[in-house]
Amino acid sequence: MQRRGFVAQVLGSGVVWRAGAGGMGQPRAAAGGPPEWARVPEVVVERPLRGKPHSGKVLAAIQPHADDIPFFAAGTVAKLVGEGYTGHLIRTTNDEKAGSGTVGQTILNNERDNDAVAKALGIEQVFSLEYRNHQMDGIAREEMRERLIFLIRLLKIDTVVCYDPWGVYEENPDHYVTAQVVESACWMAGMEKDYPEHLAAGLEPHSVREKYYFARGPQLVNRIVDISPWINKKVEANLCNKTQGAAGDNGARLRARLAAQKLRLPILGDSDDAANREYIKHFVLDQDSSFLRGVPSDREVGRPYGIEWAEAFHYIGPIESTLDRYIAEHAVPL
Ligand SMILES: [Zn+2]
Repeated sequence: MQRRGFVAQVLGSGVVWRAGAGGMGQPRAAAGGPPEWARVPEVVVERPLRGKPHSGKVLAAIQPHADDIPFFAAGTVAKLVGEGYTGHLIRTTNDEKAGSGTVGQTILNNERDNDAVAKALGIEQVFSLEYRNHQMDGIAREEMRERLIFLIRLLKIDTVVCYDPWGVYEENPDHYVTAQVVESACWMAGMEKDYPEHLAAGLEPHSVREKYYFARGPQLVNRIVDISPWINKKVEANLCNKTQGAAGDNGARLRARLAAQKLRLPILGDSDDAANREYIKHFVLDQDSSFLRGVPSDREVGRPYGIEWAEAFHYIGPIESTLDRYIAEHAVPL
C-alpha cells in the first residue's frame, strides 16, 4: 500500500490529528464533529503563480544529504525561487557514508554534487554544516540550533523547506534530528533573549513564517504543490546526484546493462544523457518511486487533484491576528 494512501485511509477512518496552523485558537464546538483545532485541515493546492510575487522573500532549503531536496521537494523549491524567492541551500551532514570510493573521496564528490543541485535550482549560496553522516543523533542539538538561528537571522529567512519533524517511521537519524532542530530554530530565532551576542553583533530577531515539511512515511498532508512547470528542473536537480541516490547516472547504467543483453527500453531514448533524464522522470519520480525513493509517484500525488506532477507537504503558515479587524468593526467612541 502506498504510504500517503495509507494516511488518507487512516484519516478517513476517523482518526483525529491536531491541525497545524491556527491550532491553538479558541476551541469551538462543531456540530457533529471535533472542535476546530482538532480537525484534519483541508488540503490546499498551491498553483503556479504569475510574475515574481515572492520577490524580496528568502527561502532556505534544508537537507541532511545532497539527495533529499532533489528527491522530495526540488519542484517546489524551483517554483518558489522562480516566483521570486532568494534561495539558500543548507546541508547539515558531510555525506561521508553515501557513495563509492574512500570516505574522503565520498565527502568531496557529494560536496560537488550538492553545489550542482543548488545551481540547478537557481540557488547561489550553499552552507554545509558538516555533521558526520548517520551520526546526527549523537550531536549537541543546542549547538546546531544556534548555528541555524544565526543563519535565519543573518539571511532573514522567511520560509523553510525541510523534513517533517513529526514524520513517523523515519529510520535515518540525520533526517529526524535535522527536522527537529530546524523546527525549534524557526521560532526561537525570533526571540529577543536567545543568543544576545547575535544582537550585539548587529543581527535582529527574525522568525521563519512559512514551513513546507516533507516526509518519507505517513504524514499529515495539507498542501499539494503543482510542480508540473518545473518537472524538468526537478529532473535536473536529481541528475546532479551522481555520487549517491537512485538518480544521477543510473539511467545510462541501465541502458548499458540492457545493451549487454541485446535489449533496450525505448522510453530511455538514444543517448546516455537522455537515458539519465528519462530514467529519473519515468522511474525515480514515477513508476518505481516507492522502491527508489520510499514515497508514491509524483504523478500519483497529483492525480486526485487533476495535476500532472505534484509534491506533498505539511505546510505551516503564519497566523494573522484578527484584533485590528474586530476593533475596526466594533469600536465605539468613548
Ligand atoms: Zn537523506
